Amino acid sequence: MYQVVCLIPITNEKEKTMTFESMGLIEPLQKALAKADYKNPTPIQAKTIPAALAGQDVLGCAQTGTGKTAAFALPTLDYLGRESIPKKPRQPLVLVLAPTRELAIQISQSFEKYGQNIKFRKALIYGGVSQHKQVSAIRRGAHVLIATPGRLVDLINQKHVSLSDIEVFILDEADRMMDMGFLPQLQRIIDLLPRERQSLFFSATMPPKIRDLAKRLLFNPKSINVTPKTPSVEGIDQQIYLLSNKQKLPMLKDLLARDSVDRAIVFTRTKRGANTLGEKLEAAGIPATAIHGNKSQAARQRALEAFRKNKIKVLVATDVASRGIDIDGVTHVFNYDMPMEPESYVHRIGRTGRAGADGVAISFCTYEDRQMLREIERLVKMELTIVYGEFDESRQRNNKGKSSSRKPGQRRRSRRPGGKSAGPSNSSRRHSGGSESGRRKKPGPKKAARKQTARKQSNRQGSAV
Ligand code: AMP
Repeated sequence: MYQVVCLIPITNEKEKTMTFESMGLIEPLQKALAKADYKNPTPIQAKTIPAALAGQDVLGCAQTGTGKTAAFALPTLDYLGRESIPKKPRQPLVLVLAPTRELAIQISQSFEKYGQNIKFRKALIYGGVSQHKQVSAIRRGAHVLIATPGRLVDLINQKHVSLSDIEVFILDEADRMMDMGFLPQLQRIIDLLPRERQSLFFSATMPPKIRDLAKRLLFNPKSINVTPKTPSVEGIDQQIYLLSNKQKLPMLKDLLARDSVDRAIVFTRTKRGANTLGEKLEAAGIPATAIHGNKSQAARQRALEAFRKNKIKVLVATDVASRGIDIDGVTHVFNYDMPMEPESYVHRIGRTGRAGADGVAISFCTYEDRQMLREIERLVKMELTIVYGEFDESRQRNNKGKSSSRKPGQRRRSRRPGGKSAGPSNSSRRHSGGSESGRRKKPGPKKAARKQTARKQSNRQGSAV
């Protein structure tokens, strides 16, 4: 289990029976949780909240989707709700650092949701927009400051923010922050924090660099790990379509037109690819919009809101956007382009099947992507079901990089492509990288001639896979 948190077993007996009430969270928080229909704490919450309430530092290894925002927001709000500490201009008490604007906004929304019955002020700061309103909010005074590292350092340099009063420091998605090159800013921020403070540190992975950083930052922390050793994605029906590049767009349009697809995120490799695909879908009458790092903050927020409110059915996104998207009810994720690293696959498909819901993840895999497919399978420790298409190895050898001549829509699989599967069918095969052609019946003379013609045509058209 990876994203569907409620299925991660809680092994400790005490944690198993833990409720928000038995944790001792204050009444206003419990009311807000009841309103949000949170019945029981998730494993990361059951482990983090009691330790944080007791004032301990926490080192949490957990993914987005595990409920970790509430794991750090609830004890923080509990503290603010009990103490009624006056706010001071420019000097927040709690600092939450997040790597991306989207994640910072989501964290801010979560604080609002959980803290709706508590008197506290928060400020949200991130780059890419004018700093004017952000500075005003800090000047008015905020108990909780939620920030991305770059903008925070900017505002510290301009003396709009001081970290001298920070009592609780929360670092979210530390590994992502490192990946994005924020280490210098992070070090600067850490140097400015008071020595006496509580720190809650979260990261999806714990490579040595992150461990070193955590060691510097944390004092005798409670280590919490809710990431299973095998990152499988139960509850998500993972399907592979073996296609050529040319087949991708018609196939995507076909699949998106199905009734089962309510809300879909389509991943492309490049920003340009996302824009082009978004435009092509729009032109085909499928309401879609692209979201990626080159879009202005306002445009990204508009796109997310429209998607959230069901005004658009399809969000076309790049990997950068994938981690920050927390929208329930995404029925399908499409990997229009396979990701560059296997880990991104898990992050991408984790956008569906959130909070216990089922979801479908369909990956378009070209002949060139077969190595990536193998790496993904190694990571998720399972064979992914090929629902459509095949790699014709003998043809690929003669016709390097050319696509299969079968037209999109000409399905041979017995499973329902794009729908929920009842489990792997007998007809589903492996992308065998060679063995496939050996298993197929030899084509008769007519069929062989047809194939050859198709190959010649394909060569002439220069259709690249
Ligand atoms: P997060 O990992 O913080 O991004 O949370 C993932 C999703 O789980 C969000 O949609 C939360 O609203 C939801 N969630 C968090 N905690 C709980 C809970 N205890 N019960 C039900 N849903 C939850």
